[in-house]
Amino acid sequence: MKVCSYCNGLKHLEQQCPACKNLMDDQGKLVDYLDDYSPYLDVGITKMVDGDRQSVKSDHCIHVLRCKSCDRDEVVVIEEEPIEKG
Ligand SMILES: [Zn+2]
Ligand SMILES: [Zn+2]
Repeated sequence: MKVCSYCNGLKHLEQQCPACKNLMDDQGKLVDYLDDYSPYLDVGITKMVDGDRQSVKSDHCIHVLRCKSCDRDEVVVIEEEPIEKG
């Protein structure tokens, strides 16, 4: 089983805003916003994963980052990592 380190609090997701260089806030999984953000899936995400949306859902966690300064949203694809038992 694979999990997203960021959803599980193992890592903190930080990324600079491409426009103003401020740190963006992790808004959580894209799944929660799926209806609003479906245009991003079509143009952005599929490009990164060879157009296979199923593989995105199974092995990748898609996060939305928001910049407070310029009110900009960015979508980041996180590769899920296997968890070790014990
Ligand atoms: Zn996640
Ligand atoms: Zn910004």
